[in-house]
Amino acid sequence: MKTLDIAVVGAGPAGLAAALFLHRARHRVTVVERFDQPRPLGSGLILQPTGLAVLGALGLREEIMALGSRIDRLYGADAASGRTVLDVRYDALRSGAHGLAVHRAALFSVLHRAVAAEGIAIATGSEVAGLDDRGGRPALLGAQGRSLGGFDLVVDASGARSPLRGLSRVPAEPRPLAYGAFWASLDWRDGFDANALTQRYRRARVMIGVLPIGRREAGGPQMAAFFWSLKPADAERVKAAGIEAWKAEVARHWPEAAAYTGQVGGFDQLTLARYGHHTLVYPAGRGIAFIGDSAHSTSPQLGQGANMALLDAAALAASLAAEDDVPDALDAYCRARRWHVRVFQGLSFVFTPFYQSDSRLLPFLRDTLVATVARVPPAPRLLAAMVAGTIVDPHVELRAGVAAAPSTVARGSATEGAGTRQDAAPS
Ligand SMILES: Cc1cc2nc3c(=O)[nH]c(=O)nc-3n(C[C@H](O)[C@H](O)[C@H](O)COP(=O)(O)OP(=O)(O)OC[C@H]3O[C@@H](n4cnc5c(N)ncnc54)[C@H](O)[C@@H]3O)c2cc1C
Repeated sequence: MKTLDIAVVGAGPAGLAAALFLHRARHRVTVVERFDQPRPLGSGLILQPTGLAVLGALGLREEIMALGSRIDRLYGADAASGRTVLDVRYDALRSGAHGLAVHRAALFSVLHRAVAAEGIAIATGSEVAGLDDRGGRPALLGAQGRSLGGFDLVVDASGARSPLRGLSRVPAEPRPLAYGAFWASLDWRDGFDANALTQRYRRARVMIGVLPIGRREAGGPQMAAFFWSLKPADAERVKAAGIEAWKAEVARHWPEAAAYTGQVGGFDQLTLARYGHHTLVYPAGRGIAFIGDSAHSTSPQLGQGANMALLDAAALAASLAAEDDVPDALDAYCRARRWHVRVFQGLSFVFTPFYQSDSRLLPFLRDTLVATVARVPPAPRLLAAMVAGTIVDPHVELRAGVAAAPSTVARGSATEGAGTRQDAAPS
């Protein structure tokens, strides 16, 4: 592939990772971000072995490992009876894989530092509203009527509310899900498993979680992401009842959670996250590729979104490296990601109502049938592979993407056997 002029819209995990891969493949990359100062949104997230492998391919694995909290287990219990409902252990996988929970700011700053260190241009304060491809080379249209470009390729990494998604070959928009959550980043408190996501449920209407997310930056305090599931439609009613009423409601289901709710002084410390679900069946259009949440959004129940965003970035770069022209590369990218994305979007769609819905039947099945079956081999391994993001091999494209690089095996990653580049992080 000849050197291309590429615009990457959005400086989230997908956009920043894509910018690094494409810049290193000697393309001329400009990242276009709506915020004046690129910044992370939200609280914490779990990087799975898939996402960690991509960060390894970018030479950033050690840097992020130093900031995050190693996750070995996802554990959930019924709030009323204390009975175990969910117990997924990564070590059920032969590879000894693990997750890494991180503060979003930590993931953002590791990627952003690398982008800045490599001199990749970031046009900040530039909200993209549309695309003009009349001249053969698409130009980005700004919200203020300015245009930027033309480019040989636009990579849309602008997230779930992408303004460009209508340009995909088969457009689809996110359908709002009934439940979302209040999220907060709080100081870590002892008494909780420092290597597990710990949750309490009451049917599927109540879900409370504590996730250790390590440090925002080196030397900072250990932190936790705390979340409380609720319908966005009920948020105003909950706020009107007052913060103490909310804390009392949380304590009624999980008294120990007071260690976290005690740190919350008001609703301004809680971010209301709304979830939607969509999947582009062909995440590309004429001169444009869609990656990350712009291509597929869902609830964070399976914890795959950021990981799939990173995989998309790697797959797109690998496809551009493997093909001679842009249309063939876009075709190859869509093929490379097709099954992994479809399977995980499908699993997320099916599993979310077991944890977040008004159904009485689904949580009953979860707490009885599913909890029992989950203990019988090979279910523990299948569940671990589902959480790790490896139940469908996502690494075909990743291997291709780093084929030219010296390869070493990333210890503890599900890609053992697949080459992953372990460069020193750019200083
Ligand atoms: C509460 C919550 C918990 C989650 N937990 C997990 C988890 O545990 N594991 C996991 O893997 N995933 C998790 N996710 C999902 C994960 O956050 C997303 O999948 C991931 O952030 C997607 O990355 P992205 O780069 O595609 O989009 P985003 O992170 O949304 O980044 C999009 C970027 O584009 C910019 N932008 C948007 N519109 C424009 C525009 N018009 N012009 C220019 N720039 C624009 C934005 O400012 C932003 O910088 C969670 C999500 C939520 C909400």
